[in-house]
Amino acid sequence: MRIAVFSTKTYDQHFLSRANDQHGHGHELTFFEPRLVEETASLAAGYPAVCAFVNDRLNASVLRTLREHGTELIALRSAGFNHVDLGVADELGLTVARVPAYSPHAVAEHALALVLSLNRKIHRAYNRVRDGNFSIEGLLGFDLHGKTVGVVGTGRIGVLFAEQLRGFGCTVLAFDPYPNADAERVVEYVPLRELFARSDVISLHCPLTPETHHLIDAEAVDQMKDGVMVINTSRGALVDTIAVIEGLKSGRIGYLGLDVYEEEENLFFEDLSEQVITDDAFTRLLTFPNVLITGHQAFFTREAITNIAETTLANVTAYATGEGTVHRVTSDKLA
Ligand code: NAD
Repeated sequence: MRIAVFSTKTYDQHFLSRANDQHGHGHELTFFEPRLVEETASLAAGYPAVCAFVNDRLNASVLRTLREHGTELIALRSAGFNHVDLGVADELGLTVARVPAYSPHAVAEHALALVLSLNRKIHRAYNRVRDGNFSIEGLLGFDLHGKTVGVVGTGRIGVLFAEQLRGFGCTVLAFDPYPNADAERVVEYVPLRELFARSDVISLHCPLTPETHHLIDAEAVDQMKDGVMVINTSRGALVDTIAVIEGLKSGRIGYLGLDVYEEEENLFFEDLSEQVITDDAFTRLLTFPNVLITGHQAFFTREAITNIAETTLANVTAYATGEGTVHRVTSDKLA
């Protein structure tokens, strides 16, 4: 199929082209650097398939433009699909496919990297040593061993993260409206309020839905232990940024690690180092010594991105040939 690939970077071109050749898909890939938004949607004119990433805007107006220009299939190269208006996609008869599972290890390990870096202040130590400053004042950490970790969402990534923390000798609490019996090997399910109240480290591994929007708000922060560590590698809008800024200012939140940010679509994946960042909440976060932010890179391992490229193209091939599985998402059910 002819596929218009949006938001492409060199690594997308490399891994998608390689998967296309190695697996003999024979798709015709056209790489567009811009994000898919209202202004760029017409670039896809004449392409029956569009391939999109997490900060592409697949709202009603973009979907309508795509449909009018002949697109039938949207192949997301992500697991998350909160950026797609699925109701409108269904109405228009657009098929939306995603990559349901790709190396969950990549994300779980990145969440762990944030925990360890924040705790042992590696981000600060790195700069000090390079500056010839070998003082360890202010770099005091804590043993993870014996601490209580709360995992919100025990799907693929949450369970792996829980297993890792169990390996450090932590007690792991979890909240999930759909508990999974297998996870009970490593976690104790508790109500969310109890998880907030008992955890030294809280890590979010649930999807962004209307129910989970601002799951961490001022009320949630109030229920947490003093000095708690909060980690979010899932979706930015799970966290109310203003509430966590207040929590950091009061000391209730002792550490904050983010790989995602609620307004990230205007920031992440671009080199803005020559520009003035006008998002005041984001720049405020950058001023705290106990905040560590990465720009949505948790998925970015060789294994995960190989997986993503292969499944994305396999979805397109399955759609085109009617053979194999299209990992479809619809407004009422996932397949
Ligand atoms: P998954 O579907 O395997 O698991 C999600 C779990 O969340 C499920 O067990 C579900 O029951 C649970 N859940 C649903 N609603 C909940 C709620 N209200 N409270 C608590 N739990 C709830 O998903 P996954 O593959 O483990 O991915 C988890 C998250 O990680 C997703 O948000 C995904 O978008 C994000 N993610 C981020 C990156 C990154 O690069 N930062 C990469 C991949 C995935």
